[in-house]
Amino acid sequence: MVIARSSYCTGCCACGDVCRFGAITMVYDDEGFLVPGINTSKCVKCNQCVNVCPANSFTSKNDNIISSYACWSNDTESRISSSSGGIFSVLASWIFQNNGVVYGAAFDESFHVKHGRAENMNELELLKKSKYIQSEMISVYPMIKKDCEQGKLVLFVGTPCQVSALYNYLGYDYEKLYTCDLICHGVGSTGYFVDCLGYLQKNFKSKVTEVVFREKSKGYNKPHLIIRFENGRMYKQFLYYSIFGHSFTKSFSVRKSCIECKYATVPRFGNFTLGDYSGKVYVNFNFNEIKRGISTLLINNMKAQLVFEEISDKIFAKKVDVDYIITTSNRLKGISLKTLEERDEFFAEYKSLDVKEIIQKYDMPSREEIRNFKYSGKWNGSVLQLIHKIVYRVKRHIS
Ligand SMILES: Cc1cc2nc3c(=O)[nH]c(=O)nc-3n(C[C@H](O)[C@H](O)[C@H](O)COP(=O)(O)OP(=O)(O)OC[C@H]3O[C@@H](n4cnc5c(N)ncnc54)[C@H](O)[C@@H]3O)c2cc1C
Repeated sequence: MVIARSSYCTGCCACGDVCRFGAITMVYDDEGFLVPGINTSKCVKCNQCVNVCPANSFTSKNDNIISSYACWSNDTESRISSSSGGIFSVLASWIFQNNGVVYGAAFDESFHVKHGRAENMNELELLKKSKYIQSEMISVYPMIKKDCEQGKLVLFVGTPCQVSALYNYLGYDYEKLYTCDLICHGVGSTGYFVDCLGYLQKNFKSKVTEVVFREKSKGYNKPHLIIRFENGRMYKQFLYYSIFGHSFTKSFSVRKSCIECKYATVPRFGNFTLGDYSGKVYVNFNFNEIKRGISTLLINNMKAQLVFEEISDKIFAKKVDVDYIITTSNRLKGISLKTLEERDEFFAEYKSLDVKEIIQKYDMPSREEIRNFKYSGKWNGSVLQLIHKIVYRVKRHIS
């Protein structure tokens, strides 16, 4: 029994949830990703799993994107504690005000990421912030279906493959269901991430208590990976040079299906799309605004447009041309990550080498790489910011 080609499987877990015979259990493979394990003695070959699998049916109900924005939440505290501009929290707050529930991804006690449900802003805290490993969706689809059938207002946020799987599972676009997909680089290996934490725990001689992938105290465009330990110590490194962060951002440790992701394109699958805004319109924003974080928000259909109008007093939004947003984001242009060979090499070594050797080889960039990176344009944001800051201060001084 084959549900989908293994290189297409996104690990969305919909097949496990749809199987009424308990024949499918999600298990971690030797690369550290969730895959379906089939118990052939229980399988009745009903093909429900094949039909629900988003790798087998690829159609978005949306037409062209209606509008797109560089935007942020007017609630500065919430914005700073989010990955980009805090728009997820604004959408969630609107849902709660209308007695709805929100589904998003949270760490569990063993630092696996799982989708969970929040009924209020306190519960939402765990769902905030990007976690760059795959979120487990086991048993989540039936929960959402139950909420929808009870007529609840529901917001689901996840990777586009998860949003697509959700629609396949439900088989119906409930009026009160709102979905938001993320512009997604890809998901990193849970197995490797947990191994990295184990390595750090040994070195720091203490248990990990908190992980933040995009800490913004040095600015939104200089995200830092922060890992806190029970003994009060902390690992802090620029995300692109950090343990796990380096191999993830270079796409070595991402899931195979993410390399040529079918969802890294338009039209989108969710009513909304959220991402990190990094376009040039940047330089027209005040330095402090850039530091606090800016989201890309795509309004993909009329359902989203109506909500956008309702939340418009809670956000600052600058309209940006859709084509411009698409051209500045590889993950909307349908471009593959072009690192298949390096990825396969990474995982071949991951399976045979000690985690310390993998970290030394793939997660400790050389000085030359750091120098090249600084001059590669990725830091241009900071140079432009600096110029902007000087101009801004001079203008303020003159006036
Ligand atoms: C794995 C991953 C890769 C991403 N890659 C890009 C990218 O290449 N380019 C880009 O522009 N933006 C990317 N993003 C999106 C971006 O980092 C922010 O999540 C988005 O801008 C929303 O930020 P926010 O400030 O509005 O809210 P936040 O509070 O930061 O919201 C984060 C949202 O993402 C959800 N989420 C977190 N982790 C996961 C996960 N593992 N799986 C599914 N959902 C999750 C949370 O539940 C929450 O809804 C990525 C996000 C993730 C999770």
